[in-house]
Amino acid sequence: MYSFKARNIVAFCLLAFLLTGAVLLFIAFISMIFQPFKVTNQSFYHSGSGQQLVQEIFDDHHAPIEQVSVHFLDVDNADCIFIDAGDIDILIDGGNDHDGPYIVEYLKNLNTDNIELMIATHPHLDHVGGLDDVIEAFEVKAVIDSGISSSFGIYQDYMKAVEKEGALFLEDDDMKFDLGPGITFEIIETGDNYPNINDNSVVSQLTFNNISFLFTGDMCKNAETRNLNKFSAVDVLKVAHHGSRSSSCATFLDRVNPRVAVMSCGLCDICGKSHGQNLDTIKEFERRNITLYRTDVLGNIVISTDGSTLSLKTFPRP
Ligand SMILES: [Zn+2]
Ligand SMILES: [Zn+2]
Repeated sequence: MYSFKARNIVAFCLLAFLLTGAVLLFIAFISMIFQPFKVTNQSFYHSGSGQQLVQEIFDDHHAPIEQVSVHFLDVDNADCIFIDAGDIDILIDGGNDHDGPYIVEYLKNLNTDNIELMIATHPHLDHVGGLDDVIEAFEVKAVIDSGISSSFGIYQDYMKAVEKEGALFLEDDDMKFDLGPGITFEIIETGDNYPNINDNSVVSQLTFNNISFLFTGDMCKNAETRNLNKFSAVDVLKVAHHGSRSSSCATFLDRVNPRVAVMSCGLCDICGKSHGQNLDTIKEFERRNITLYRTDVLGNIVISTDGSTLSLKTFPRP
């Protein structure tokens, strides 16, 4: 009787031990899938030495520039922005996975030789999707990443391509690069480890004499409002998160007060109209008399500047 009871206790303890182990394994598995985790990469630099190395890349092409063009590629409800500043080329995000070949073709049509700086604003698939194709097609010299990784295959494809390329790899931080006389490119650190991955987006600003562009990735209201004092008035705003109501809050728009806004967005697959979540943002831009250009309406949007005026060119994606 006694030994039977003892056996039961041992069996119970064993079962409890196994169950606890299984639960812990399950929690670890779920965390791996759903939680952002920090990138660990051998060639990983924080700002400081890394920033200086990126500046040296730009210094090799430092020359007077007459015109800067910013291309907002039509990649549906995703982002892909190409900055053509003389000999210096910067790519911010790479659309979805299937956009890769189109982006490569688009850049080749512009006679792009290599890309001095690539920015992956955050690891979502509509931002890193086609970056691996771009890295395979062009020499990419440096990459700035949010520092938040993802276990999704498409993000891993991008990371493998970066490692194979041997590109300089930096996490975003406050940085300011000199691209040529009167032209700067800044990374604005808006904080790390937000629970919403969109808020970890790398935010950047291009300034050419009197004209400035702000690129916001998918930043949402939390990061917008926490960093108000880091933003200033700009001429052109890349509307955050494809115009979703999660972003572009009133205090942020008061602060950046753009003349022109560009929304990289697609039509709803079901109704063929703009996504309902964008309509509030569209109305708010109209109310503020901000000229809004949308990729779902205009296709590819190219805004060029000589440092004092803006010009617009649009053409549909074939
Ligand atoms: Zn997005
Ligand atoms: Zn996102």
